Amino acid sequence: MVTGAGGNVVVLAKPEGLLLVDSGSAERAADLVGLLGQKFGAAPIGVLFNTHWHLEHTGGNDAIAARGVKTIVAHENTRLWMSTKFYVEWEDKYYQRRAPASRPNKTFFTSDKQPFELTFGGERVVYGQLTEAHTDGDVYVHLPEHNVIVAGGAVTAARYPCSTTSRAAGSAHGGGDAELIGLADASTLIIPDVGPPQSAPTSKRRSRCCRRCASASKPSRCRAGRRGHDCRGYYEGVRRALQRRFCTVHHQCLSEHVVESTPGHRGIED
Ligand SMILES: [Zn+2]
Repeated sequence: MVTGAGGNVVVLAKPEGLLLVDSGSAERAADLVGLLGQKFGAAPIGVLFNTHWHLEHTGGNDAIAARGVKTIVAHENTRLWMSTKFYVEWEDKYYQRRAPASRPNKTFFTSDKQPFELTFGGERVVYGQLTEAHTDGDVYVHLPEHNVIVAGGAVTAARYPCSTTSRAAGSAHGGGDAELIGLADASTLIIPDVGPPQSAPTSKRRSRCCRRCASASKPSRCRAGRRGHDCRGYYEGVRRALQRRFCTVHHQCLSEHVVESTPGHRGIED
């Protein structure tokens, strides 16, 4: 696992090459490619998964494509977002069409029978969509032999898991969390978008916490509310503006989760 590349990047190294999950941000792409060279020499990149279109996870695609990658796997919606110029109102920002070589070239639709499976270097790699998660095309990548699930933006560890699509705004990632928890056992490590790996029980607790907070009708029900924090107004603001912000109660919960998470499962990091 490579941290500090924007979003987390996971590398599966096999004698015939590398499989990557996500490519980090464009700003850190040169560092990521440098790190791959340092650790794995000129090993070819056979497969790159994009868990979703956000630039913290696909910004490095151009650099990876320039280094050489055979297959970029993603949900079809991710390819569509990366293939067009669009404007996000709450960010007041235009996103540019991505270069053809950096776009996914192997995609699937929500209606396709899932999960999918491929073999890389003799290892099973299982993947599929997380519905009602973070975008309209979130993908998890499950490495059963390592008992690792890369969850992309559907799970956050170091910041409040604020939904970024109107479709998911009210669910606080509840659907995606439930699917992940269904795939995991007690010792599964779940790799979030940034931050340290999470254990499945930790994710389950976080999911409960998020659901409770997102549906809280009386601010006094939570500790932050008792301290005068306007949770209700806060969530309405979140739903309206879809902004990534910290809520005191979530911040506190997440701090506990980070403390509880299991360190030491990182293969490599910068
Ligand atoms: Zn994201």
